[in-house]
Amino acid sequence: MKALHLSDIFAARQRIKNDVLRTPIKQALSLSGYSDKPIYLKLEHHQYTGSFKLRGATNAVKSLSLEQRKKGVIGVSTGNHGRGLAFAAKNNQVDSIIAMSQLVPQNKVDAIKALGSDVRIIGQSQDDAQLEVDRLVAEQGMSMLPPFDHPDVICGQGTLALEIIEDVADIETMIVPLSGGGLLSGIALAMKTINPAIRVIGVSMERGCAMFESQKAGKPVQVKELATLADSLGGGIGLDNQYTFVLVEKYVDDLVLVDEAAIANAIRHAYVHEQEVIEGSGSVGIAAILSEKIKNPGRCVILTSGKNIDMAMHQQIINGEMPIL
Ligand SMILES: *Cc1c(COP(=O)(O)O)cnc(C)c1O
Repeated sequence: MKALHLSDIFAARQRIKNDVLRTPIKQALSLSGYSDKPIYLKLEHHQYTGSFKLRGATNAVKSLSLEQRKKGVIGVSTGNHGRGLAFAAKNNQVDSIIAMSQLVPQNKVDAIKALGSDVRIIGQSQDDAQLEVDRLVAEQGMSMLPPFDHPDVICGQGTLALEIIEDVADIETMIVPLSGGGLLSGIALAMKTINPAIRVIGVSMERGCAMFESQKAGKPVQVKELATLADSLGGGIGLDNQYTFVLVEKYVDDLVLVDEAAIANAIRHAYVHEQEVIEGSGSVGIAAILSEKIKNPGRCVILTSGKNIDMAMHQQIINGEMPIL
């Protein structure tokens, strides 16, 4: 395992700056009743491909050797990691394969194909897809790029912290959506190194948060996957987790959970009061503030991490209905 430093995150920023959008930040006046100081939204859901995953994927692709680039990259993902990796590879003239199981809906397959990737539908489960990936890595020398537990991915996501610190002075609380923890690890490493006084908080859904349970247990554990509005936050952290478990343990102050009603409420709030379309996973930080799970946030930045939500479901939520998952 490689030790990561703030300098790696500055290097990542140099590497990816022409490939990713420096996303805007805005003060969320609609949340001003929840703190005695301004609350800001870092609008990373405006990122190309609709989520921050593009940052890590781009940094990982650009860090490959010429030899590795020629052989192409491969990932397993139906969602934002797949989109980010497909787009990052295409931008850098690298071939990519995104593997997924037969259970994935056609619209998700088409979205990733449209970004220029060779989508391979393999077997009945993500595990089957993983076996095919292992074969392609072994036989064709492709580079497997995972969604979070990889140093270049973590440093790519960490570039968000540099932008945020440049745009908002004297941050007291930083609120970040959490699943595998690549996003939270990168941001926490950068922010705590620059200013240890910033309180860095990860937010997940109550329904099946592997990192939360793992930190509680003191080691990576598996959790049952449950249907949730925060669908990009599902999945485990890997029982052989190399990076994110330890980084979260070392740098993160607190982990907070929000329920489904709070997530729906946050999606609605973001749309009605801030005119922002944000997916469930991207809105858990707003959910934590609205449900007062974070006491005295002070001058606070909430990262909104993605926008890739089914728009019919979004409409339902805006209408005050709870979608059936
Ligand atoms: C992947 C993802 C997350 C969680 O990122 P991790 O690095 O796995 O913790 C949060 N929000 C969105 C929209 C995502 O796609």
